[in-house]
Amino acid sequence: MSYLKGLKCKECGKEYPADRSFVCLECFGPLEADYDYSKIQSQLNPQIIEKRAPNLWRYRELLPLESEPITGFNSGFTPLVKASRLAEHLGVSELYLKDDSVNHPSLSYKDRVVSIALSRGVELGYTVFACASTGNLANAVAAHCARTGFPCLLFIPSDIEIAKIKGALVSKPRVVSLEGNYDQVNRLCSEIGDHYGWGFVNVNLRPYYTEGAKTMGYEIAEQLGWKLPDHLVLPTAGGTLLPKVAKAFHELTQLGWVEGQTKIYSAQAEGCAPVVHALHRNLDYFDPEKPNTIAKSIAIGNPADGAYVMQEVRKSNGWGETATDPEILQAIELLAEKEGIFTEPAGGATLASAIKLIRQERINPLETIVVAITGNGYKTLEALDTEAEVDVVLRPNLKIFKEWYEGQTNLLNSSVEVVP
Ligand SMILES: *Cc1c(COP(=O)(O)O)cnc(C)c1O
Ligand SMILES: [Zn+2]
Repeated sequence: MSYLKGLKCKECGKEYPADRSFVCLECFGPLEADYDYSKIQSQLNPQIIEKRAPNLWRYRELLPLESEPITGFNSGFTPLVKASRLAEHLGVSELYLKDDSVNHPSLSYKDRVVSIALSRGVELGYTVFACASTGNLANAVAAHCARTGFPCLLFIPSDIEIAKIKGALVSKPRVVSLEGNYDQVNRLCSEIGDHYGWGFVNVNLRPYYTEGAKTMGYEIAEQLGWKLPDHLVLPTAGGTLLPKVAKAFHELTQLGWVEGQTKIYSAQAEGCAPVVHALHRNLDYFDPEKPNTIAKSIAIGNPADGAYVMQEVRKSNGWGETATDPEILQAIELLAEKEGIFTEPAGGATLASAIKLIRQERINPLETIVVAITGNGYKTLEALDTEAEVDVVLRPNLKIFKEWYEGQTNLLNSSVEVVP
C-alpha cells in the first residue's frame, strides 16, 4: 500500500510518475516526491509511530517507497541530547543536540538519505549503485551496499587524499578516481548514470534520496514530545538537509501532529559560505565560491539546492552564520569538553555559528534551541592538528606515580558540585 502519489517539479509544479525521472522536462527544475496526505492522516498518527522500531522507517508512510525497505533498519532515530552543561556555559535555558555523529552504520547524517535512495532504487530496478563524493556520502553508499549485497562504484576527484575514503574502501567498493575537480566528476556522473542505468544516489535518485533528510525533522519533533523547537541550526553543504527538514516540519504541522514554529538557521564555514553570504547581503541569488576551509564535508561552493536553503531560512524568519577555521576547532573542543561528543569540522561549524547567533541575540536564550551535529570527529582526526599531549610519562610503579601526583596542585579540580 503506497502513499507516494508521484513526483512534482519544485519550480513549475508539473507532475510526473514516481519513476526514474529526476529533472523537469519543461523547466529543468528538480523533482520532489508528493504524497497522499489525506490517506496518511486517516491511517497514521503519533501514537502508532511511537510503537514502532527506533529507526527512520517509523515514518515510512511519509517516505517515497512502495514496498518494503531493504536497508536502514538501524539508521536514524539518533539521540536528541539535552546539553545541560553546554547550555549553562552559553547562558541558554534549553539546548538540544541532534546527534547524527552516531548514526548507523557510517556515522553521519548521510545514512538517512542513502537508506531511502537504495530502497527506492531497488524498487525502480537499479542493480548497481554509485555516487560522487569525497567523504561521508561515499562511506554511507559503500556501507549500505555492502550490507545489501549490491555492487557499488564511488567516483572521486583525483586531487583528494586517499586517506579520506579509507573508511569507505574497507567494505571493498569499486573506486574510480577522475582527473578533474568536483564539478567535472558530478557532470560525468549524470552522463554515466543515463548511459549504464546505474543508480547514482545523489544524481538520478535525487528526488528519493533527498526525502531521507526529512527524517531528521520528524525525529526532532517526536523527541521533543511532538513539538517543534523555537530555533534550529543546521549545516548547509549541497543544500539538501535544511529545506527537507523544513518540509518535514511543514508536513507535521499540516497533519495536525505538532504545534509551534521554528526559526531555521543555516551554518557554513566562512571559507565556503555562498548561501550565508547571500543572506547577509540580502541578495536574491548566491554567488558560487571557491572552498577554502577545514570543514571539507560541507565545502560545496556551488550548492545544487542553495536557493531553496535561502528560501526556507527566509520563510521561517531565520538567518545564517559562518565560522572561521579557528572557531570551528574551538567549537569541536567545547562540545567535547562540555558534552563528551566528538564531532567533525561540519559539527564544529554548526555549533560555532549557533554560538554567534546566540551572542547576537538572534536566538532568544530563553527559548528551545536545537543544533544538528551531522558527522563524527573520528573520521577527521587530522583536522585537529594537535599532538596527543599527555600530562606525564612515567615508569609503571606506584611510588613513582605517588611522587609525581602528590607534587601536582589542582590536577583534578571538579566542576561538579556534590551536595553531601
Ligand atoms: C552532507 C553533509 C551535510 C549537509 O549537506 P547538505 O548537502 O546540505 O544536505 C552536513 N554535515 C555533514 C557532516 C555532511 O556530510
Ligand atoms: Zn518544471
